[in-house]
Amino acid sequence: MKVFKFGGASVNSADAVRNMAHIVQKHLESAPLVVVVSAMGKTTNLLEKLVPGITSDNEHKALRQRLEDYHIDIVKSLIPNDKSIVNKVYTLLHQLDSTIATLQSDSEHYNYNYDQVVSFGELISTTIIAHYLNHLGINTLWEDARQCIVTDNHHREGRVDWESTRGECWRLKDNATGYQVVVTQGFIGATSDLKTTTLGREGSDYSAAILAYCLDAESVTIWKDVPGFLNADPKFFANTVKISQIPYNEAIELAYYGASVIHPKTVKPIQNKGIPLYIRSFITPEADGSSIGDYKTIVPETPLYIFKNNQILLSILPRDYSFIAEDNLQVIFGILSKIGIRVNLMQNSALSFSICIDNNPQLVAPLIEELKNMFRVRYNQNLQLITIRYYTQEVIDSIVAGRPILLEQRSRTTEQLIVPGK
Ligand code: ASP
Ligand code: MG
Repeated sequence: MKVFKFGGASVNSADAVRNMAHIVQKHLESAPLVVVVSAMGKTTNLLEKLVPGITSDNEHKALRQRLEDYHIDIVKSLIPNDKSIVNKVYTLLHQLDSTIATLQSDSEHYNYNYDQVVSFGELISTTIIAHYLNHLGINTLWEDARQCIVTDNHHREGRVDWESTRGECWRLKDNATGYQVVVTQGFIGATSDLKTTTLGREGSDYSAAILAYCLDAESVTIWKDVPGFLNADPKFFANTVKISQIPYNEAIELAYYGASVIHPKTVKPIQNKGIPLYIRSFITPEADGSSIGDYKTIVPETPLYIFKNNQILLSILPRDYSFIAEDNLQVIFGILSKIGIRVNLMQNSALSFSICIDNNPQLVAPLIEELKNMFRVRYNQNLQLITIRYYTQEVIDSIVAGRPILLEQRSRTTEQLIVPGK
């Protein structure tokens, strides 16, 4: 079996879905093709605002209408005059409304609420796509990822229960016999008592990897709007170079530092089984793309850049003027882990501990509040975290472009800097 993953940008309009279906059609084989799909376009961002307590009633209403219009327009353009798919989408939208109505809107339930609401993006997209593929005559099974990917109850960042997931995937393999395609949702899973969870933003790549691992897939292909694994995000960088071969470990490092081309957790499971991972363009699907596998070095060898915007740098200082020691760090990490915050860069001195994190107000505000019980907290916002692998001084100077450097860390291969955002 092969696993394909299509992200939001590859299914963001009726034309995009037609293109995606065309790619699927060209890759049908005797074994069913497993197709993992994200929410359409920017739907996840929109759904994040429908989580209770985030927007006013009026704004909520407008966003909810936008969600409906966007999907219904796509459906009507894809398959004109088909009531059954329109009804399926309305059923899901009504389920979303009733789910939201039952949630408690306090911040304590934010992570749980998030998963219950945001998961609808993938449920809707896959419902439309599976229906459309069947409409084209491709015998397609819609599979609920919440029946396959079993996680713990760590909401917004569910941790996979590999044993149970493997078992469910065997069941999926059985169910899939006779089908040409299995369409399932990226990003979502469920606890063993079937409470919906999500795997972290951009987690659909990880879903593809989990399924590939558990199904012993032959390969995973991630279809993107870029020609492959580039040495920088073309959104921030003009002259990008495509890396055609990437060793598994290099890909893990890059994703960890924030290379947005793949989700950080994606590579490990498939590396463990030696399953190759291809990154290809859905815009030029005939082209080669990049391949991640058992290579010694990247090809071609060139500096690699990763930019993370909207960062906040917190300096944490003990109130009692004591040193920052292991006991303080333990408390700080306990709070970070409880709130579910990932640290992008950290540095300690005798008197303070600095962490650079994404500036998500929903999480940063409670973090600062809690830290203030024991520590003094200073912060700097609107920062950019830059990581350069295989740097030279010349490369660093041109990227920093005269901005003051707030924090810097350098190893043999990797330079990391925090500078004011542009
Ligand atoms: N729809 C989710 C997100 O936008 C998951 C994904 O696209 O990978 O984060
Ligand atoms: Mg996405």
